[in-house]
Amino acid sequence: MNSCIFCKIIAGEVKGEVIRVSDRFIALKDAHPVAPGHVLIIPKQHFVTLFDLPDNWGSELLTFTKAVASSLLDKKLGDGFNVIMNNLEPAGQVVPHAHLHLIPRKDGDGIRFFTKV
Ligand code: AMP
Ligand code: ZN
Repeated sequence: MNSCIFCKIIAGEVKGEVIRVSDRFIALKDAHPVAPGHVLIIPKQHFVTLFDLPDNWGSELLTFTKAVASSLLDKKLGDGFNVIMNNLEPAGQVVPHAHLHLIPRKDGDGIRFFTKV
């Protein structure tokens, strides 16, 4: 999908701060971080939601996400972390290329998810 911003970053057509790469995934610094160290785990191939990700990519995704989370905690960017995935517009997905948000957390950082108004 050539209009996709994440595909453009992966193709090197648009600049992005990629902090780690595996065979099938990249970790990209979020352009509008909700916390220092907020990164996105993105498959190199264009998929839209979790449903589209092949089941046999799951192991690599888990290993990669753990490695990125460990490096963020090692850098003291957080003492805990959230892994969040927005799937489709009603759930808040803005970029239609599947991705996980990895958000380092600290006590009293004031970040709140899933509040109902
Ligand atoms: P979502 O609402 O789950 O689709 O989140 C999309 C995320 O992508 C947001 O947190 C944006 O800040 C982030 N984002 C959008 N464009 C870029 C970009 N060019 N580089 C890095 N992050 C981006
Ligand atoms: Zn894409």
